[in-house]
Amino acid sequence: MTMEHKVERKLFDEVMVPCYSPMQIIPVKGQGSRIWDQADREYIDFAGGIAVSCLGHCHPVMVNALKSQAEKLWHLSNVMTNEPALRLAKKLTEHSFAEKVFFANSGAEANEAALKLARRYAVDKFGPEKSEIIAFNQGFHGRTFFTVTVGGQAAYSDGFGPKPQAISHIPYNDLSALAEIMSDRTCAIMMEPLQGEGGIISPTSEFVQGVRELCDKHNALLIFDEVQTGNGRTGNFYAYQGLGVTPDILSTAKSLGGGFPIGAMLTTTALAEHMKVGTHGSTYGGNPLACAVAEAVVDEVSKPEVLAGVKEREQWFRDALEQINAKYPIFAEVRGKGLLLGAALNEEWQGRARDVLLAAVEEGLMVLVAGTNVVRFTPSLVIDKADVDEGMARLERAIAKLYNK
Ligand SMILES: *Cc1c(COP(=O)(O)O)cnc(C)c1O
Repeated sequence: MTMEHKVERKLFDEVMVPCYSPMQIIPVKGQGSRIWDQADREYIDFAGGIAVSCLGHCHPVMVNALKSQAEKLWHLSNVMTNEPALRLAKKLTEHSFAEKVFFANSGAEANEAALKLARRYAVDKFGPEKSEIIAFNQGFHGRTFFTVTVGGQAAYSDGFGPKPQAISHIPYNDLSALAEIMSDRTCAIMMEPLQGEGGIISPTSEFVQGVRELCDKHNALLIFDEVQTGNGRTGNFYAYQGLGVTPDILSTAKSLGGGFPIGAMLTTTALAEHMKVGTHGSTYGGNPLACAVAEAVVDEVSKPEVLAGVKEREQWFRDALEQINAKYPIFAEVRGKGLLLGAALNEEWQGRARDVLLAAVEEGLMVLVAGTNVVRFTPSLVIDKADVDEGMARLERAIAKLYNK
């Protein structure tokens, strides 16, 4: 095969490990909330690369940060520190409860660091018996073996041999189940402050408050996985800030890089001390290119007008979905917060979220699903009104076609 050979979707089946089943189209260009495929067909993007492209595609602040860092320094390793990493870490501490930052390259790695820190802290401070991690059914924390086992879908962690031990799952929003299972052996609770992959499920305020109290009572750490909810997605810089409950450890990734791979674990000085030299690490973690882009993203997303704009856009989405549903009633409810929204299908439409997604693509619109019953929307946090209106017109056409079939 020469370089001029046409790159087609069927090449995926020939040369890629088949753990994904990508759509037939191959996008080649993106600008703002629009994407173009190889045939120059245009799509509106309500998916945002799964809650990643928080400033849309090729936003000038990201492009400028990447280009200017690309001409200075790409990589050092953690044998040396670098200016973009230190600047970004400082800003993350300014925008959150955290005093210390560990950089990784993905959400799973940020969670892996969070879980290892929790276990190490418990061992140092209370002894090896304090090892139990409690997490929630339908939770998602990544695909490394530790994080996928903490995630609440056994189907994702089964079939790989012996699993990491001392991990339990209970239903989300079930405070009494949690109170029952917690003990002095509990090391940490890991949870999403709004379940994303699991179907866009918000915690009740009673539940999050109760989780914090139980952690304090049992000397257990509270880990918030904000990989999907973080960096402005829910209208606060981090979702915990809208819940009135502060975790001990927070993981962040996805929107942090706006499309450039980066993840981070945020925590306090008192906890961070337990990760002494040599206890953990990453070759690429804190890479100058990634940190320079993320710094530009954080500067932009943390602006009060951008965060306020997320709430305004949430209303645009809710209003438009309600109007579509008045004509073609397929949704039971729209749930979620900010621009992490899920339209749950009603009784008659159970199991058909993917049909909606495929019909939307036909009309030139990208949406996501969360499970088989929820159509998920995680667009750019700065998507403009014209793109939302046009995207919703396309969604209405897609749903009309399904509805009238
Ligand atoms: C996407 C996601 C992850 C995994 O992030 P990766 O970058 O794919 O490793 C972890 N937790 C949550 C809540 C996520 O949404």
